Amino acid sequence: MKKLYFITGSQDLYGDETLAQVAVDSKTMVENLSKKLNNVCVEWQPTVRNSDEVYEVCLKATADPDCVGVITWMHTFSPAKMWIRGLKALTKPMLHLHTQANEKLPYKTIDMDFMNLNQSAHGDREFGFICARMNVKREVVVGYYENPDVIAKIAKFADVAIALAYSQTLRVAMFGNNMRDVAVTDGDRVESEIRYGWNVNYYGIGDLVKIANEVSDAEITAKMQEYTSKYEMNTDKIDSVKEQAKYEVALDKFIAKNRIGAFTDTFQDLHGLRQLPGIAVQNVMSKGVGFGPEGDYKTSALMAVLCKMAENKKGATAFIEDYTYDLTAGSELELASHMLEVSPVFAKNTPKIEVHHLGIGDKEPPARLVFDGVAGDAIAVSMVDMGDRFRLICAKIEMVEPPYDMPALPVARLMWKLKPDFPTGAAAWVKAGGAHHAVVSTALDVADIRLFAKLTDTELIVIDEKTELPFGA
Ligand code: MN
Repeated sequence: MKKLYFITGSQDLYGDETLAQVAVDSKTMVENLSKKLNNVCVEWQPTVRNSDEVYEVCLKATADPDCVGVITWMHTFSPAKMWIRGLKALTKPMLHLHTQANEKLPYKTIDMDFMNLNQSAHGDREFGFICARMNVKREVVVGYYENPDVIAKIAKFADVAIALAYSQTLRVAMFGNNMRDVAVTDGDRVESEIRYGWNVNYYGIGDLVKIANEVSDAEITAKMQEYTSKYEMNTDKIDSVKEQAKYEVALDKFIAKNRIGAFTDTFQDLHGLRQLPGIAVQNVMSKGVGFGPEGDYKTSALMAVLCKMAENKKGATAFIEDYTYDLTAGSELELASHMLEVSPVFAKNTPKIEVHHLGIGDKEPPARLVFDGVAGDAIAVSMVDMGDRFRLICAKIEMVEPPYDMPALPVARLMWKLKPDFPTGAAAWVKAGGAHHAVVSTALDVADIRLFAKLTDTELIVIDEKTELPFGA
């Protein structure tokens, strides 16, 4: 399990007795936090009393591959110049916990010694100043450390920190490039690696075809068994499904061999494949591997990172595309889908395996999973490259059941309502330059994305029930 270092700040002036009590209190706090957090373990670090000790623990946190972040707390006063050298060496996300060892004030017995020992209100302000002055990217959580709301916020921070650590090691494979002439799927891959750690590389589709051509019948049979155990076969064109099973076995092998966490393909570059990968991609996506079609590496990588962030949460997270609308005034709905590649994590019922003609890509009819999506609160997150920076657009949405069946639509589909209302929400997304590709999640919320954006210093535009966008704005 990944860990958060718990670093307690103090200083030399207080003497051994006080510092011993600081250690006892911080250990008690760490024990309680560890018990209540099930996504991360909290590791106590010796109290830091001077610049050398701060530097040492910050270096240790930076170098420890299992440490995804630090929690800092000033039990007493801790003169903040002693933090400068260490904070410059710290590369892990920080949660500044503004709390106390005591919940209530002992009004009857409080004396000067008690007040000197328990002065987070004083010490955490000094620490807050130096973090603000140095522009340290951090979250500040306030309240008694056993308070469930405080625990929940620390758990949320831990999930984001785990996702950020994963992001730093994420390898993305692009089979082919981005779809010709499309602007929004393109981006600065060098800057993506500097800022998010995404190592994005091109591979020829032939690299995958070669592996696919060597897949054995036994491997295809095993994959077909996986399909029929999870999905309902609704076609007699079994050979077409087997073709996809072959692609997925090849993908599995390629992903394992090259330590790939996310990938893209494009229908313009399918040389050597008889079908556009459909169920093959859908089933891989359902396992948390990022996917972006048409060479959209940003959506693919973002999906992998958000799936990691959602790993300890209930709900579904995957790529989707904005496709078409029901524009009935007052009850507008968006219909989101794709040519084939909609993740079955969104399925309301058992997905059906079907084979239909696909008018794009000029290949054989591909097997795909067809289903309606779940209902409930969700977010849609899009990342675009503005030339001098990346921008995240995060919209709160309400996923709904389709009002009518769509028996002639041969692909999976999700439907949702925009917030605060359709004209405002859609205009805000379009004005912000949000892509037609997004990662939708019923597991994550705006706070998760806000924290991710803050810790990666990414511009974020939130569209929610409070968004106002007067005509002309
Ligand atoms: Mn698309």
